[in-house]
Amino acid sequence: MRADIAVIGGGPAGLAAAAAARAAGAERVLVLEREPLAGGILNQCIHDGFGLVRFGEPLTGPEYAGRFLRAAEERGVDILTRTMVLELTAERRLWTLGPRGYEAAAAGAVILAMGCRERTRGAIQIPGARPAGVFTAGVAQYYLNRQNMMIGRRVLIVGSGDVGLIMARRLTLEGARVLAVVEKLPYAGGLARNVVQCLEDYDIPLFLRHTVTRIEGEQRVERVTVARLDEAGRAVPGAERVWACDTVVLSVGLIPENELALQAGAEISPLTGGAVVGDDLQTSIPGVFACGNALHVHDLVDYVSEEAEEAARNAVAFIRAGRPAAGPLIPVRPAAGVRYVVPFFLRPGTRPLISLRVAEPMSRRRIEVRAGGRVLAARKFPRLTPAEMVRLTLREAAPPGAEAVEVRIIDG
Ligand SMILES: Cc1cc2nc3c(=O)[nH]c(=O)nc-3n(C[C@H](O)[C@H](O)[C@H](O)COP(=O)(O)OP(=O)(O)OC[C@H]3O[C@@H](n4cnc5c(N)ncnc54)[C@H](O)[C@@H]3O)c2cc1C
Repeated sequence: MRADIAVIGGGPAGLAAAAAARAAGAERVLVLEREPLAGGILNQCIHDGFGLVRFGEPLTGPEYAGRFLRAAEERGVDILTRTMVLELTAERRLWTLGPRGYEAAAAGAVILAMGCRERTRGAIQIPGARPAGVFTAGVAQYYLNRQNMMIGRRVLIVGSGDVGLIMARRLTLEGARVLAVVEKLPYAGGLARNVVQCLEDYDIPLFLRHTVTRIEGEQRVERVTVARLDEAGRAVPGAERVWACDTVVLSVGLIPENELALQAGAEISPLTGGAVVGDDLQTSIPGVFACGNALHVHDLVDYVSEEAEEAARNAVAFIRAGRPAAGPLIPVRPAAGVRYVVPFFLRPGTRPLISLRVAEPMSRRRIEVRAGGRVLAARKFPRLTPAEMVRLTLREAAPPGAEAVEVRIIDG
């Protein structure tokens, strides 16, 4: 197989990137998707609320993905489903396994759009027995929404990420009793709108600074111990409660899917878990671009699509030029209170969109992007939380000779 642009992953990022690459003039655009259906994780997100930014209307996940699938098909993108990319090299050669067997492919540019995966019980090491009835929120969502299978009756949710909050409501609507959501941090991990719409509207309690310290049960989960945590995150002696339940749902974080990027030798950021990219969303490997949740975990899919389209335009510019855009790279440095910033480098003269997350909730702050003594972007925020991605467009480019771009948070 030979493609101008090979897109790995046929979720909303991959589909938007592929359609945009064709619109920008790429001839042969190939999407490689391991599942039988393109659409990514949105195929199991049957609630609405997607697309408010992009289309100004609330869509379900499959409806949102469907719009991009149609756009990709209408623009003549080749979508190979049931095709898993097993290997990627720095020379942009790929090895795939699909209905036609094991095949090699070569591409002028590659776009990484493999999404993210969930942290599991092993990652947070909850002690106790190993009974049935412990699910990650995404797997629970898959069973309920795609397989029409109920996963349990008395459920405790660990972690307050968005998928867990959505599942608290979904399980309640399906007749389960969701006892509580426990969160080790002093604030919710998911969006404020999901705390209100998925917990408060259904009287599901959220216990902050609490965690599960033990899971017990013979065949199936029978009970869990929940402990209150002190400011240092240690269980407070005597402040434990045992809950009888048959199901534990974990919503304890998402990690960009980056095995292929690592394998190809791309530099990976310890801050995001995704590839280190410049202002053109190109990784440290020339001609390999990254977008969507494979690059950094996004809050809204609308922003995933926008970022993917930008990656695609840059990938088309790369294949036209045959080499990466020239220019010195200016590092972007997150200052205190900023958890991460994407991109990691800028070239002088560029004014990319900057995405960032703060390290903890704060109110009445101003975020400034500065370089060479100049303010490139600034905005005031009444409230900032780690759950909500901040996006800023630079109103001017970094001046020539700037050594770094600093992103900082100041009072007011
Ligand atoms: C479990 C879960 C539930 C979510 N629920 C919500 C929600 O309710 N509301 C909301 O706003 N957002 C939700 N999100 C976030 C939303 O799904 C994302 O914003 C969006 O789907 C990200 O798009 P993506 O294309 O980057 O990734 P994905 O949608 O994950 O798509 C990635 C695609 O890449 C494919 N892939 C991965 N590796 C390979 C490979 N090696 N070869 C071939 N194909 C590969 C996967 O099969 C998948 O189809 C959820 C995310 C997760 C993980």
